[in-house]
Amino acid sequence: MREAAYYHKEDGYYVCELCPHACRIGVGEYGRCGSRYGEEDKLIAYTYGRLSSICVDPIEKKPLYHFYPGAKTFSIGSIGCNMRCRHCQNYAISQYSTGKKRTTYASPEKAVDMCRREKMDIISFTYNEPTMWFEYILDIMDVDPDLKCVLVTNGLINEEPLRELCKVTSAMNIDVKAFTDEFYMKICGAHLNDVLKSVKVVFEEKVHLELTYLMIPGWNDSLEEIRQFAEWVREELSPDVPIHFSRFHPDNEMNDVQWTSPESLVAARDVAMGAGLNYVYTGNIVSEGTGDTYCPDCGAVAVSRLGYLVEIEELDGNRCAACGRKLNIIV
Ligand code: SF4
Repeated sequence: MREAAYYHKEDGYYVCELCPHACRIGVGEYGRCGSRYGEEDKLIAYTYGRLSSICVDPIEKKPLYHFYPGAKTFSIGSIGCNMRCRHCQNYAISQYSTGKKRTTYASPEKAVDMCRREKMDIISFTYNEPTMWFEYILDIMDVDPDLKCVLVTNGLINEEPLRELCKVTSAMNIDVKAFTDEFYMKICGAHLNDVLKSVKVVFEEKVHLELTYLMIPGWNDSLEEIRQFAEWVREELSPDVPIHFSRFHPDNEMNDVQWTSPESLVAARDVAMGAGLNYVYTGNIVSEGTGDTYCPDCGAVAVSRLGYLVEIEELDGNRCAACGRKLNIIV
C-alpha cells in the first residue's frame, strides 16, 4: 500500500491536499474520489497500480491532434474521479470508485514493460481521472523517464501537485466542460475557476496542451458561451492552443438529452475560429475538413484526418511545407 502524497493530519482526520475538495478523511473512510483511503497510521493511495482498462489507441482518440499525429499510444486507466459529471461516459469506472469494480494490479515496472512490449513510447493515463493516480504516474515515469507521458484530465488538481506532474508530462488534454460555474456546480460538482487555473498552469509549464469542450445540447452549447470560452483561450493562453468541440451522446444520468448535432459542432468551430483561434476541430463525428490542420497563414492542409485516418500533407517538421510558417505541432 503506497502512502498518498499531499495530505496532513488535523483533529484526527487526514486532510487531502491533492485537489480543491480538501476532503477530511477518517480511518476506514475514502475521499470523495475513492482514490484516497484512511489507514490507522497513514493516508494511502488506494487505487495505486489498480488497472481497470488497458488499450493501444490512436493518439487522436485522446484527443491530441498536434502531438505526433498518426502515432499510437499505450493507454491505461484505473477507477475513481474527483468530479461527479452527470453525463460521464466512463461512469462504470470513474464513479465506481471504492474498489467494487474488478481491477488488476500492475507495478510501475510491469506497466512500463507492457508498454514497451507493445513497442510504444507514448503512455497515456486516461479513461478515468489520471490525477487520482498521482503517485503511480510519477513512479512509472521514474522507472522509464524516456517515455512520453500523456494525461487526459478534468484539470481539477491543486497547483503544487500539478506543477510536479508537469515535470514528467509531455502533453495534456484538459476538458473544459462548460464556461459557466453554474454548469460545473450543477453537473460536475466542481468549480470552473479551479479548472481554468490548472489550464493556465499547464500552459505556463510549457506542456503541450489541447482542450476539449463536450457540447451538450441545451446545457453548454450557446454560441455566446462558446465565444467567451474562445476569447478566454486567445487572451489567457494563445490562439495556437488546439481546441476540440466534441459530440455528446446520451449517457449515465443525462439519457434524456439529445445527441449534439454535427451542425452545432461546426457552428461552434466557426465561432471559435472567428474569435481568432487557429486550430479548432470537431470531434466524435466524421466530417470532412473540420478535423484537418490548416496553416493559419496560407491555408494549406498540413495534416488531414477523417475519423482516425491521418495523413501528413503540407508539413515539414513543425513548419508549413507550403509557406514555412511555424505551426504548434510536435512531430
Ligand atoms: S483527491 Fe480525492 S480525496 Fe483528495 S481532496 Fe480530491 S476528492 Fe478528496
